[in-house]
Amino acid sequence: MSNNGKPDRGSVDLNSEECKGCGLCVEACPPKVLRLAERLNHYGYHPAEYLGACTGCGICFFVCPEPGAIKVLRLAA
Ligand code: SF4
Ligand code: SF4
Repeated sequence: MSNNGKPDRGSVDLNSEECKGCGLCVEACPPKVLRLAERLNHYGYHPAEYLGACTGCGICFFVCPEPGAIKVLRLAA
């Protein structure tokens, strides 16, 4: 559930070991539910992490330059 009590419409599956920490998805996400983590991945980048309440819009998937770093899951209505 999202903060406003409505069910979330989507979710993201982030593969932090494929992420290069560019931050494009963080900037592009309309509801701002992504951020860069404090920790470093094995490449030495701060990977994106998911905070919850994704709308399933798919924008993060389209802006991410790293194949396999983000998967967007849309929940059935
Ligand atoms: S699918 Fe849309 S709402 Fe969900 S994390 Fe990606 S950009 Fe944000
Ligand atoms: S756009 Fe892709 S590579 Fe860049 S921070 Fe987001 S998940 Fe990582």
